[in-house]
Amino acid sequence: MSAAPWQREWQTAIREPAELIDALKLDPALVTPARRAAEGFELRVPRAFLERIEPGNPRDPLLQQVLPVDLETGTPPDFVKDPVGDGASLQNGGVIHKYHGRALLIATGACAINCRYCFRRHFPYAEANASTGQWRNALAYLQGDTSLHEVILSGGDPLSLADRRLSALAEALQAIPHLRRLRIHSRLPVVLPSRVDDDLLAWLAGGRLTPVMVIHANHPNELDDRVGSAMRRLQAAGVRLFNQTVLLRDINDDAAVLTELSERLFSIGVQPYYLHLLDRVEGAGHFEVDERRACQVMQALASQLPGYLLPRLVREVAGEPWKVPIDWSGGC
Ligand SMILES: *Cc1c(COP(=O)(O)O)cnc(C)c1O
Ligand code: SF4
Repeated sequence: MSAAPWQREWQTAIREPAELIDALKLDPALVTPARRAAEGFELRVPRAFLERIEPGNPRDPLLQQVLPVDLETGTPPDFVKDPVGDGASLQNGGVIHKYHGRALLIATGACAINCRYCFRRHFPYAEANASTGQWRNALAYLQGDTSLHEVILSGGDPLSLADRRLSALAEALQAIPHLRRLRIHSRLPVVLPSRVDDDLLAWLAGGRLTPVMVIHANHPNELDDRVGSAMRRLQAAGVRLFNQTVLLRDINDDAAVLTELSERLFSIGVQPYYLHLLDRVEGAGHFEVDERRACQVMQALASQLPGYLLPRLVREVAGEPWKVPIDWSGGC
């Protein structure tokens, strides 16, 4: 089978620190630390994302999400490999069932972009990956629990899989009578918007299950015209659209930035959903925003935006039955 256009585009993603630094006309002294930090978690930046980074600006908020830096190796000791306890709750064939009524299926470990703050940077995908011929086990688990109404395809990034495979999976899910919704958690429509093509819409929106997509954008600069068109196509096909954001130091811990993010999301038909406090994963300590600062940012945001454009500030706590809301409405 020939590769889809998005797959060919994905194959051209930048994976070598020197190439990224050169393309953006940044200080070559950044190359050595970037190579060192990339040994633990490789660099990966699709060109569609690169285009939105300002050349010559080492502080660019999109660059900081993808450039490996020395700070990653000096993490405080309370930043661990599996901060949200996914290892412990991993069930059959890549199913993580922590919350009532919905279960998450690790469809693949692959991603189109490698985000330095990612809580899955140490996740044991080789064993957990449901795509390695284990979907049968995952499906059996979902079939066996009639309290489940929603399946969330996650990863990694589920949309890094080919439509042929996703279509087969969606068909199998539709055949499970107690399921009502098919939710996709993906950063691909943002970082590689050509991913939203006819083949994707066919399996996502063409079946019995109500399609829901939760995209992941952290900064308004990520939402260019191509992302806007991708969102319009999803909407036209009947897909409900939400966004989740991770609160990241010096990237979006600022009410003006988050106000603009919510405004732009709304203008392309996407509802702000969660604003996550960082999961305390090894290598990501320098991205953390403390709760007090998060609370101040939320108060400032609430003073600017209509309630329906306010994301919910949450933290994932291992063992809790939902994403834990952080109360910002009192004092900070
Ligand atoms: C975050 C998460 C979900 C989704 O939670 P919602 O509150 O429904 O968005 C579901 N399952 C797992 C394991 C999760 O980590
Ligand atoms: S799982 Fe999401 S946040 Fe993590 S690297 Fe992949 S795209 Fe980025």
